Amino acid sequence: MTVELICVGTELLLGNIVNTNAAYLAEQCAGLGLSCYYQTVVGDNRERLFATLKTALERSDIVILSGGLGPTQDDLTKETAAAVLGKELREDAHTKELLEEFFKKRGLELTENNWKQAMVPDGAIVVENPNGTAPGIIMEEGGKRVILLPGPPGELIPMFESSIYPYLAGADPAIIYSQTVKLCGIGESKAETMIEDLIAQQGNPTIATYAKIGEVHLRVTARAAGEKEAKKLVKPLVKELKNRFGMNVYTTDEKVTLEQSVVDLLLANGLTVTTAESCTGGLLAAKLVNVPGVSEVFKSGHVTYSNKAKHKLLGVKKSSLDKYGAVSECVAKEMAKGAALAYKADVATAVTGIAGPDGGSEEKPVGLVYIACNVRGKVKVKEFHFSGDRNKIRESSVIAALTLMRQCILEYYSEVAFR
Ligand code: ATP
Repeated sequence: MTVELICVGTELLLGNIVNTNAAYLAEQCAGLGLSCYYQTVVGDNRERLFATLKTALERSDIVILSGGLGPTQDDLTKETAAAVLGKELREDAHTKELLEEFFKKRGLELTENNWKQAMVPDGAIVVENPNGTAPGIIMEEGGKRVILLPGPPGELIPMFESSIYPYLAGADPAIIYSQTVKLCGIGESKAETMIEDLIAQQGNPTIATYAKIGEVHLRVTARAAGEKEAKKLVKPLVKELKNRFGMNVYTTDEKVTLEQSVVDLLLANGLTVTTAESCTGGLLAAKLVNVPGVSEVFKSGHVTYSNKAKHKLLGVKKSSLDKYGAVSECVAKEMAKGAALAYKADVATAVTGIAGPDGGSEEKPVGLVYIACNVRGKVKVKEFHFSGDRNKIRESSVIAALTLMRQCILEYYSEVAFR
């Protein structure tokens, strides 16, 4: 089955906002096993939107539109889509009630143009929007489906997850089943090279690679008459991916994040953890604290931004700071050692680097980051060269720190096992 995306909004055409809805919807549709061959952005213009939707319906089974469902004059998606399918608009009593409730709850005054949002095309399925006033609309006509979603991602994403995904999953008589193999500590191009043969011969199931900051996700999707059969198709390929990527696989469970997998490792081995952060300023600690139940293992985290703090709180030697500088292998190591000692933790992870935009030099450029991990006195330090702006460098550092923690803990236990 084919799907096509149309994102409506002059702001998108002018580059005032980034089309994140298209990226989100495309990824979701791929996960559902739907083939997406076209994506279009069209401004808030009735004629051009009419022509775009008409063309889309000639070549695709499902058309998903985002944006232009608001109450103002330039919001014309619903009216135009209804006109393309030859449908009249009628007032939907339930939507009207919800609109009244929405405004009352927030103490806002309903203006005349808000009632426009209670008008729905004849015969359409109305999808509730708990996060906004514009309901989603599904229209089915002559074997084709048109889905209208509100533009704000905070409304579109929850609506897609709760209503549209299940609707689309049932749109095809076949079952779509996906499993994701999540990798860390490996780049996208290396990962792809390692499975070039599998990608070349893919059919059912398919493999899709998604590059995230510091991670690569491989989604294996099969289509079959029943769930059991689909799972059976996915299983051997997931097994093969696990064999090929070994230690780089941190989970095959969609819901598990990298920080969750690290916390699980700490919990399973009864290890306490502490962090000592410079350029990440507490982001690593915050990531760990994202995981419910982390209090069992995470006792404290430290932001030691200045040299003075590194020396006073972590016992980093003044001579090391003078000789090698705060961003150095030696200081990262001393931070990880000092943090473990000061806070009696089994595992201590330290991050020191130059996040920019200033502060770089030829010898130590922006993006240079040292990360050290100390597992019960065994310390490993790694040097990284990250690219991007300040935020991206700090985010990349956190993911690399989690990856290194995971690697060090696994190595520590495999060595213990061999002793
Ligand atoms: P509203 O009821 O808020 O007017 P709408 O369905 O009419 O919603 P638009 O008016 O088209 O949607 O867009 C509202 C806001 O949603 C935009 O200003 C933008 O912040 C966000 N938005 C719209 N389309 C996209 C998109 N394709 N990707 C990311 N954000 C978007």
